[in-house]
Amino acid sequence: MWLDSHCHITADRYADDRDATLDRAREAGVEAFIAIGSGYGFEGNSQAVALAEAHDDVFAMVGIHPHEASVMTDEVMARLRTWLAHPRVVGVGECGLDFHYMNSPDDAQREAFAMQVALARELDQPVSIHVRGDDPDAYAPMLEIWQAEGAGELEGVLHCYTGSKRFAHDALDAGFVVSFSGIVTFKRSDELREVARSVPLDRLLVETDAPFLAPEGHRGRRNEPAWVGRVGETLAELHDVSIEDLAKATRDNARRLFRLPA
Ligand SMILES: [Zn+2]
Ligand SMILES: [Zn+2]
Repeated sequence: MWLDSHCHITADRYADDRDATLDRAREAGVEAFIAIGSGYGFEGNSQAVALAEAHDDVFAMVGIHPHEASVMTDEVMARLRTWLAHPRVVGVGECGLDFHYMNSPDDAQREAFAMQVALARELDQPVSIHVRGDDPDAYAPMLEIWQAEGAGELEGVLHCYTGSKRFAHDALDAGFVVSFSGIVTFKRSDELREVARSVPLDRLLVETDAPFLAPEGHRGRRNEPAWVGRVGETLAELHDVSIEDLAKATRDNARRLFRLPA
């Protein structure tokens, strides 16, 4: 019923129970997982590809997270290119700009992001984008780079969206799909819920971004894909549709964006 469009199931936090975590999610109705290779060290990419090879319902994305942008070299680009030729790899990501944590310098982030957008365009692959910071300091340059390097030929998702309603609509105009995580379920997230309500049903995705950001009811615990339905429940309420309809819409949107086999 659900498709977790963004999770880090290769993270060390699942070292002891990765297969059991996937099984719990399947039992909770998760029919597919997008395993994000970036964000937990460069080798996370090869682990995500291996996991996707091992499970029919897991697909991988590969990239360089903005936190790790300083590692970008021609050699890294060559490895990304090789992975992207793999049939179980469905796109580039997560990549983008994070001016909140600033774990890599501003220039390195912009350059690594621009290189990955250009690569995605060349290889005709969708992109999962991470953007964090004050709006517009990280948001405006993200969109500028996307438009300069992507030239309107690319498809992408703004994952774990936490920005303004105004920017969400600029991004929708630019063709993006918008994905919400457990943050949209938090008690204090009234403003974000208003943003989510304003994103049309045919442009919405759900994700956990596990192992972090466990939804309301599970806060403080390690997150897991089994709880993606909790995010979907909140979005269904906001859109005044049944949970089944919300699940189907977000699943169809993800299958279309990532061009998953039927
Ligand atoms: Zn992210
Ligand atoms: Zn992530």
